[in-house]
Amino acid sequence: MVSLTEERGNMTKKNVVVSDAKSGLNMAISVDVSKSSLFTTAAQKKPAGPGGFITISRKQLLQNLEINGGARVNSWVDSMRASSPTHIKSTPLSDDQNSWIDHHPSALDMFEQITNASKGKQIVMFLDYDGTLSPIVDDPDRAFMSDQMRATVRKLARNFPTAIVSGRCRDKVYGFVRLAELYYAGSHGMDIKGPSKGSKYKKGTQDILFQPANEFLPMIDEVYKSLVEKTKSTPGAKVENNKFCISVHFRCVDEKKWSELAEEVKSVLKEYPKLRLTQGRKVLEIRPTIKWDKGKALEFLLESLGYANCTDVFPVYIGDDRTDEDAFKVLRERGQGFGILVSKIPKDTNASYSLQEPSEVMDFLQRLVRWKQP
Ligand SMILES: [Mg+2]
Repeated sequence: MVSLTEERGNMTKKNVVVSDAKSGLNMAISVDVSKSSLFTTAAQKKPAGPGGFITISRKQLLQNLEINGGARVNSWVDSMRASSPTHIKSTPLSDDQNSWIDHHPSALDMFEQITNASKGKQIVMFLDYDGTLSPIVDDPDRAFMSDQMRATVRKLARNFPTAIVSGRCRDKVYGFVRLAELYYAGSHGMDIKGPSKGSKYKKGTQDILFQPANEFLPMIDEVYKSLVEKTKSTPGAKVENNKFCISVHFRCVDEKKWSELAEEVKSVLKEYPKLRLTQGRKVLEIRPTIKWDKGKALEFLLESLGYANCTDVFPVYIGDDRTDEDAFKVLRERGQGFGILVSKIPKDTNASYSLQEPSEVMDFLQRLVRWKQP
C-alpha cells in the first residue's frame, strides 16, 4: 500500500500539466467541432433529410475554422443546434448506417467473440452513467437508473471490478447509483474514489484515490455563479456544478435560443483561459485545461487495481458521449479489451462495438454475469 501512495504522488507530478492560454476557449471549441458527433460518416455522405444532419463537409468546416474566427463560433452553434432534442431522431437504417454497424457491430451479437477474447484475462468494467446506465431525460436531476439496472450492476460488481466514470459530480452520480462496492470517477475522472465497502476488489485503505484539479475549485465556483446569472434569461438552460467541472445542459433550450446561450457561456469563459469548453450530448462541459480525462482515469484505475503492466487484463468501457472517446482511444492504443459506444446513430468513434440504448447495456451486462456464473 505504501507503493500505491508513492505511485500516486508520482502520477500527480507527471500527468497534471496546466496549459497556457493557447489551450483556452477558442482552441477547445475548434477541436470539439472538428470531432463533433455531427460529422459522422453518414453526415458526410448522405443527409438524413429534414431535421436530420446538417450537410457540411469536415474539410469545408476546417477551412472555415482556419480562415474566419466568426465561422468557428457559428459552426459550433450549428453543431449545438444539430444535437438538440428536436434534431436527433431515429430513422430506418440507411446503407451508411448499415456500413457503420458492420464496423461497430452490436456487442450483443458479438458476445461470444468478446468473451472468447477475454479468456484467461481479468475483465474490468468501466461504465459511463448518463445515456449508458440511465436514459437521457429532460431534467438532468431526474436521470434515475432503474432498480433492475441497479441490481444488474450490483451483480456485475460481484463478478468483476467495476467503476462508474462520469462527467457528473461524484456525490451526485453516487446518489443515482447507490452501490458502495463500486469505484467512482466523477468530474470526468478528476475525482476518483474506491469502494467504501463490500468489494473483494478493493485495494488499500484509502477511499479517495485521486483529485488532480483541487487548485481549480475556487475558479470553478466563481464561474458556476457567473454562468447561473448569465443563463438566467435562457429558458430551459440548466447549469450544474460538478465540483471540478461545470455542465450547462441544453436539453430543454429552444432552438431559437441556441446562439444566445452559446454567446453567454462564451463571454463568461473569455475571462478564464485555464478552463476549456467542449460540447457533449445535449450539454456544454467546462473543465480545467489539465491533461486529465476519462482515458487517464481508466489508466489510473487499472493501476490502482494492480493491473498497470499486466497483459492478462481485459478492460471493457461502455459510454455514449464524446468524453468517453478518450477512454475508447486508450483501450485501442493499449490493444487491451475494447470500447462499446451506446448510440442509435452512426458516430465517429474509437469504440469497437455498439449498443443502442441503456436497455441493451443492461442485457449485455446480464449476459456477462450469466457467462461468469453459469
Ligand atoms: Mg454519457
